[in-house]
Amino acid sequence: MRVLLAQPRGFCAGVVRAIEIVERSIRKFGAPVYVRHEIVHNRHVVETLRGQGAVFVEELSEVPDGAVTIFSAHGVARSVEDEAAARGLPVLDATCPLVAKVHQQGRRYAARGRTLVLIGHAGHAEVEGTIGQVEAPIHLVASVEDVARLDLPESTPLAYLTQTTLSVDDTRGIIAALHARFPDLEGPEVSGICYATQHRQAAVRELCAQVDLLLVVGSRNSSNSTRLREIGEEMGRPSYLIGHGGELDPAWMAGVRTVGLTAGASAPEELVLDVIAALRRLGAGEIAQMPGIREDVEFRLPAELREPTSDPAVQAAQ
Ligand code: SF4
Repeated sequence: MRVLLAQPRGFCAGVVRAIEIVERSIRKFGAPVYVRHEIVHNRHVVETLRGQGAVFVEELSEVPDGAVTIFSAHGVARSVEDEAAARGLPVLDATCPLVAKVHQQGRRYAARGRTLVLIGHAGHAEVEGTIGQVEAPIHLVASVEDVARLDLPESTPLAYLTQTTLSVDDTRGIIAALHARFPDLEGPEVSGICYATQHRQAAVRELCAQVDLLLVVGSRNSSNSTRLREIGEEMGRPSYLIGHGGELDPAWMAGVRTVGLTAGASAPEELVLDVIAALRRLGAGEIAQMPGIREDVEFRLPAELREPTSDPAVQAAQ
């Protein structure tokens, strides 16, 4: 049995930044620091940070007065920011800059009087944050059928936004359905689906052309990891989303000659290595990696967490 790894896979720049914000906050301010919602949707990451002194809460009412508070990479609604400000909580915002960009787009469209449609999944933290960041009603759609059900006149000046971790192909179909129904439609030139999501989906498509089975390392509540597994299924490969090597079922490997392996944007490489070790125990020999895009995206940390440095090049970058 051979293992073929997707490239790119795993951590994106937004996840690296968010984790770094928690770790540096603990070092700088001391434990505990309070994180509203899972900093990223990965259980291993959350447990590791909890071990270092992060306390994860769902509501600000659970944060004691004066405690350092971190907003997760998914972003928060304005009401949450306002509540933190009213209580004078010291806040570090780990919202991914690409999510914040979607918020800004939404506010711009609303200011120009456009009715907003958000393509995304109900209940996801990012979607709740985006809806709560724009002071105008937002219609949420997750499918072409939802577009048909929108109770809006066809002459409505409309603008769409997208969740950052959607299926590129499904989103293209939903945007086409919006265009077909609403002639006065605006949206970002490329959808708000982020670079990391697009790269990982393209890589997994290439991978699936060469493998008998797909394993995606990631947590079940991770949107982008779930989309990767769905792509494997669409391409006719048995596809499983697993948190670590211990979740591997040997029965899946019957008759499999090449296993494809990738990881969602919130899954650390150490979990990929854990799955490789489990595959080796099941008889995997050669481990190869597909050629693919090397990402070099980095996002700046909040000013209060940047290390003081005397290097002028680093200072310029900060
Ligand atoms: S998946 Fe994209 S939007 Fe989400 S944290 Fe990563 S870079 Fe940011």
